Amino acid sequence: MSKGSNRPHPHNHLFGEKVKPKNWSSTVKRIGSYFSDQKWLLSLVLLMVIISSALSLLGPFLIGVAIDTYIVGENAEGLTKLLIGLIFVFIGQSVSIWLQNYWMIGIAQQTVYRMRNDLFKQFHRLPISFFDKRQHGELMSRVTNDIENVSSTLNSSFIQVFSSILTLVGTVGVMIYLSPMLTLISLSIIPLMFFGLKWITKRTGARFKEQQRNLGEINGYVEEITSGQRIVKSFSQEKRVIEEFMIKNERLKESGYWAQTFSGFIPKLMNVLNNGSFALIAGVGGVLALNGKVSIGVIVIFVEYSRQFTRPLNDLANQFNTLLSAVAGAERVFEILDESKEERDEEEAIELSAVKGKVEFRDVAFSYEGDDQTVAGLNFSVKEGETVALVGPTGAGKTTVVNLLSRFYDADKGQILLDGHDIKNVKRNSLRSHMAFVLQDSFLFEGSIFENIRYGRLGATDEEVIEAAKLANAHSFIQKLPKGYNAILNHEGSGISQGQKQLLSIARAILADPSLLILDEATSSIDTITEVKIQEALQRLMTGRTSFVIAHRLNTIQQADQILVLHDGGILEKGTHEELLNNKGFYHSLYHSQLKQEA
Ligand code: ADP
Repeated sequence: MSKGSNRPHPHNHLFGEKVKPKNWSSTVKRIGSYFSDQKWLLSLVLLMVIISSALSLLGPFLIGVAIDTYIVGENAEGLTKLLIGLIFVFIGQSVSIWLQNYWMIGIAQQTVYRMRNDLFKQFHRLPISFFDKRQHGELMSRVTNDIENVSSTLNSSFIQVFSSILTLVGTVGVMIYLSPMLTLISLSIIPLMFFGLKWITKRTGARFKEQQRNLGEINGYVEEITSGQRIVKSFSQEKRVIEEFMIKNERLKESGYWAQTFSGFIPKLMNVLNNGSFALIAGVGGVLALNGKVSIGVIVIFVEYSRQFTRPLNDLANQFNTLLSAVAGAERVFEILDESKEERDEEEAIELSAVKGKVEFRDVAFSYEGDDQTVAGLNFSVKEGETVALVGPTGAGKTTVVNLLSRFYDADKGQILLDGHDIKNVKRNSLRSHMAFVLQDSFLFEGSIFENIRYGRLGATDEEVIEAAKLANAHSFIQKLPKGYNAILNHEGSGISQGQKQLLSIARAILADPSLLILDEATSSIDTITEVKIQEALQRLMTGRTSFVIAHRLNTIQQADQILVLHDGGILEKGTHEELLNNKGFYHSLYHSQLKQEA
């Protein structure tokens, strides 16, 4: 069961954990490289940001001029003209803001669209070892959360940060030009604001972290319990589960209450400070005006500006963490893009057009981690059409043998030959096109039964699919489904049984018609009737193909042409069932202690 997401929410602003990117500049540059084909649009956005910032300065300035020149000077005509001009300024400001957002959304969507494509394509170039090492939830979160984070940041924060800086610099510049004295007074609230915010955020930060953690815990718990409902019910644990949930919920309520209460102080503080600065400007400005040092218009401009200037300051503080977490998200995406790909096929790698299915392992050795050898000294040969049963305790190396044969991993030493060709010199795609896998938990995709079987060979006609299903003993149960072959399955295959899922994956393999078959026998027991059907279908599937079976059933093992008994990564014994029993070795004791009972 997966753990709940404890990832801090990207929008928790000043609070929450800071997800710091490891390498700012190169990551930002790389995000920038995604813009490269949109340079024009980006320049337009920046132009619009400059225009809108300039207009936001011009508005209040014109009001000041209106007061000083036209109202005090009693010039109605001039005032009208100026007011009309003011209307255009406001319209211009709205239009430029709208345009910059509109274009930026386009850029952002195009960027994350390409990132998502790159990432998904990369998944298919990565070797199986990459996926073996990671949880799929973690990879999902790259494609969804991290990229979404980049997208939302590009949509809003990017513009906001840029325009905030411009507005701040512009406002302070004009203020100093108009009255250095009043500028000093207006700026005096900044230290107060800074220390006030710091005081509050120090207290809220911890609460918000707690809230995030509790939220993560509750999410994880709900996920766990809903997916484990069957177990909860069967052990009558409902009461205990509900109690536990209530405790967690209580904790979340507490931390949420305090986090919200404290953070609610922030706008209040801003308000108090804004009003304070308003009073200061009006008071000191009034005195200066009485002395003829500044005009009424300038005071009005300052009142407006000081309001305009706490906003970008606040925005900058808010956006900074969002920006950080987006860059960190992009960094995680790039990390995957930089993972080494499945090695390219050798230049001279060949395609195998037809394969008979003769397999030989010559002194093959391999290790997953590069230190301890997982398997070593593997020597055996398989004639075409033979069935090989791989037998041995868990961890003996059965799956590894199959992984090497299909080149999910490449052997470190020795050679694996298919029809006499070293598979290292065969293109991976070509090699795998001659193999089919029937694995323990049959994998189904979301789609109809037709589509799921046709996955074995995409060009197959409906008739061929049905033919394969018949051979796989799947036809009769498919026909009984309400929509037959058009019934839609989800990837968990709900609505059909475990055994039926296996029949479908056998049908898929029959349709693929490979020369080599890799079979991981299910360990879980299935009802006897289905079991018989599966055995029969498998027998049909295996006839005439070289088959490697990771075998658990005595029946399969007994019928195999060759049994490889693996132990600690080496071949302990090989031979037929009778031969091995006569040897009175490991297989003999395995047979008497385990296989016989289970049969
Ligand atoms: P079997 O199929 O017989 O149960 P495996 O071939 O899966 O055994 O495993 C052989 C050994 O290799 C085990 O010790 C296992 O822990 C190790 N192993 C299997 N897969 C990996 C992997 N992806 N990375 C590292 N070690 C692995």
